[in-house]
Amino acid sequence: MELYTYNIHIEGTVQGVGFRPFIYQLATRLNLCGTVSNATQGVEIVINATAVTLQSMIQSIKDELPPLATIDSLIVTKIDSKIFKDFQIISTEEEGKRTVRIPPDVSICNECETELFDPSNRRYGYPFITCTHCGVRYSIIYDLPYDRKNTSMKFFQMCKACEEEYTNPLDRRYHAQPIGCHDCGPTLSLFDNVGVALVATQENMIEKAVQFLLKGKILAVKGVGGYHLVCDATNDEAVQKMRERKKRPSKPYAVMVANIELARELAVMSEQEEELLTSKERPIVLLDSKGNHEGYPYSKFVAPNMTRIGLFLPYTPLHLLLLNKLNRPLVATSANVTDEPICINRESLEKLQGVYDYVLDHNREIVNGCDDSVVMAVKDQQVILRRSRGYAPASIKLPFKLEKNVLALGANQKSTIAIGFEDQVILSPHIGDLDSIGSVEYYKKNIATLERIYNFKPQVIAHDSHPNYESTKVAQQFKIQNSKFIIKDVQHHYAHILGVMAEKQLTGKVLGVAFDGTGYGDDGNLWGGEFLVCDYEGYERVAHLNYFKLLGGAKAIKEPKRVALSLLFDLYGEDALALQNPTIKAFSPSELKTYFIAWQKGLNAPLSSSVGRLFDAVASLTGVCQVMSFEGESGMMLEELYDASVKGHYTFGYEEGKIDVLPIVKKMLLEADTAVAVSKFFHTLVEMIETIHQQYDLPLVLSGGVFQNRVLLGLVLEKIPDAIISNAIPPNDGGIALGQVVTLP
Ligand code: ZN
Ligand code: ZN
Ligand code: FE
Repeated sequence: MELYTYNIHIEGTVQGVGFRPFIYQLATRLNLCGTVSNATQGVEIVINATAVTLQSMIQSIKDELPPLATIDSLIVTKIDSKIFKDFQIISTEEEGKRTVRIPPDVSICNECETELFDPSNRRYGYPFITCTHCGVRYSIIYDLPYDRKNTSMKFFQMCKACEEEYTNPLDRRYHAQPIGCHDCGPTLSLFDNVGVALVATQENMIEKAVQFLLKGKILAVKGVGGYHLVCDATNDEAVQKMRERKKRPSKPYAVMVANIELARELAVMSEQEEELLTSKERPIVLLDSKGNHEGYPYSKFVAPNMTRIGLFLPYTPLHLLLLNKLNRPLVATSANVTDEPICINRESLEKLQGVYDYVLDHNREIVNGCDDSVVMAVKDQQVILRRSRGYAPASIKLPFKLEKNVLALGANQKSTIAIGFEDQVILSPHIGDLDSIGSVEYYKKNIATLERIYNFKPQVIAHDSHPNYESTKVAQQFKIQNSKFIIKDVQHHYAHILGVMAEKQLTGKVLGVAFDGTGYGDDGNLWGGEFLVCDYEGYERVAHLNYFKLLGGAKAIKEPKRVALSLLFDLYGEDALALQNPTIKAFSPSELKTYFIAWQKGLNAPLSSSVGRLFDAVASLTGVCQVMSFEGESGMMLEELYDASVKGHYTFGYEEGKIDVLPIVKKMLLEADTAVAVSKFFHTLVEMIETIHQQYDLPLVLSGGVFQNRVLLGLVLEKIPDAIISNAIPPNDGGIALGQVVTLP
C-alpha cells in the first residue's frame, strides 16, 4: 500500500494535557514516522501513513484521548510528500491567534494518589504530587502558551530526577508543568494567627495541623484557587466558634470528607450524585443529609435546620494527606471577608486573623483566584450553582460564529465575565457580588486576566441594562477610553434565557421563563417573573407577574415580611392591619402605619414582578422567614417544608399576559397547615408555567435564580420533561455573561 504524507490539525483542549506524548506513544505503537508539535491554534501532526494506518491512528486518537483532553475539530489534509525516519515531538514557534484553551484545575489522578501513599515512591507523602493528567492549571497561569515559565512554578528549579521525567516522552510527567518533588518543589509552612512561623519538618506540619483541628482550632489552609477556613465538622464548639468569628449565623457550610465511603455515611446519594462527587472537577455537591430531627452525623451547626448538605472530596494531595490523618469530616469554606473575593495570598488573608488560629500555608503562588464549584442533580440533570474550579475557564461552543469580539461584563450578583470570539465563549470563574471596593477590583482584575491570557481585543462591550450596576459603569469607562467600542446593554432576563440557548446551541425561537430575584426591566421596574418569546435578535415579553410594591426598596430584598405586607395591602388595603398572621405580627403597630402610608403613596416602593420576591412573601405569610440572614434563605426553607404527598394548587388570575398572584395569597391565608400551603404554592408555579407554555408551540427554556430551587425545578421537569435548562452554566446571574455575548448588537 502506498505511503502518503498527512497533516492532522487538531483543535480543542490539547495543550498542557499530555497530548503530544500521547500522540508520540500512539505513533510509535502503530509504527508511524513523523512529527507532532504544539501550534498556537492547537496541535499539528505530520505523518507518513497508508490510508488504512491513517484511519487507525485517527480512531485511536479519538478512543484513547488523555483524561483532560477534548477535541473540537480534527482536520486531515494530504500534503506534499516528506519522508521521516522516526517519530519526534518538535517545538515550533508559530504566530497566530491564541485560541488554545487553558485547562481548568482538576483533582489529583488515581496514579498520583497511589504514589502519594506508596512508601517506596520518591514522592511518598509529597503534598504537591502531580502529573500530566491532574492538578493545577488555570490557577497558576500568568500567560499562554502554557509553559512552566509562564506559571508560578517558574520559581522552582527542577531537580535532576524531575527533569528526567519532564523530558521523557514516555513518562507520565512529560512536560507536566507543575511537577516537583520533596527536593525541588513547593513546600508547606505553618503560622499562628499573628504570622509567627511554627518550626516543624514538612511531614510534621500536616501532623500538627491535624492535632490543632482535633483540638477544635480553626485553620486557614491554602488550596488551589484560594484559602479555605476549616474546622472539625463533628465539633459543635469549633463550628459555632467559626460562625461567631465569621459573623455567619446560619448559612450552611460545605463539608469535605476523605472518601466516598465516608460521604455515604453522611448523605444519601444517587449514582449520578456519586459521579459528580468523584468527578475530576470535584465540586461541592448538594445532597440529602442522613441527619434528621434526632441528630446528624456531623455538628448540627454545620447546616442549621437543613436536611441538605454540601459535600466534597479532597482534590489535592495536600487535602488528601490532611483528611486521611484527620479521619473525620472537615468544614471547609472559602476564606474571604464578607462581600470580598476569596483570599489568595497571606496579605489578603491577614484580614481574617481574628477568624483563624493557624495557617497551613505553602509557597506556590496562586495567580488566578478560583472558588470551589457547587453543583446539584435534579431529575438526572446536572445543575451548576457556582461555576468555578474544575469547570472554568473551559470554553463553550456557540451555534454560530460571532462577527466581532465581544466582552460581556455580566450582572452584579454572583458576577462572572465572558469573552467571545469566533464560535467560542470563555466564561470566567465565579467572581462574586460586586458590592465592595475589593470585589470590584477583583472583577476588573479578572477582565484584565482574560484579555491578557487570550490576547483578546474586544470590539463590542456588553453589559446589563441596569443603570447602576458595576458592569454598566465599567462599560462606560471602556467607551470613554476608546469611542470605537460598540456598547450594548442587554436586558437581564433576556440574557438569562440567551445563556441557556447559547449553551444548548438552540437556534430557533423559544419561550423563555425567567423566574428570578431582580433584574432591571425595560420600563424601569424590577422584573423577575417573565415569560419571553425570544431568539438572538430580540424578545417579546408575552407574560409576567402583576407588579407589586417592594416596601423600602432594596431593604425588601432582605426582608420577606415587607413583600408579604405589601401584598396584604394590595388585597385588603388598611384592613390588612387588623389581620392575625405571622407577617403582621412581625411588625410593630407604628411600623405598620408607616408602611401603609408608604404603600398608599408609593414612597420608596419600587414595582416588581419578581417570583423570587413572591417566594419571600410566601415564606413570611407562612411564618417561615421574616428577615433573611443570607441570600436565598427563604427559598431553602420552603424547600424543606415541601411535602410530596400534598396535591393540588391555587388558582391565579391570568389576563392579557398579566398574572395576578393575589388570589394565591388570599387562599394561602386560609390554609391551616404550613406544609400544605407551601407545597400547593410550588404546584401553582408549575401550573403557571404550563398554562402559558400551552399557548406557545415553542421549546420551553427555564432560567433565573429561582430555578436553583430544586423542588420547583424538579416539579417543572417532572411535568414538562422536555423543558430546557442549562447544565454547564448557572441558572443564576453567573450565567448572564454568556447570554450577553450572543445578542446581536
Ligand atoms: Zn496525576
Ligand atoms: Zn524534583
Ligand atoms: Fe438574575
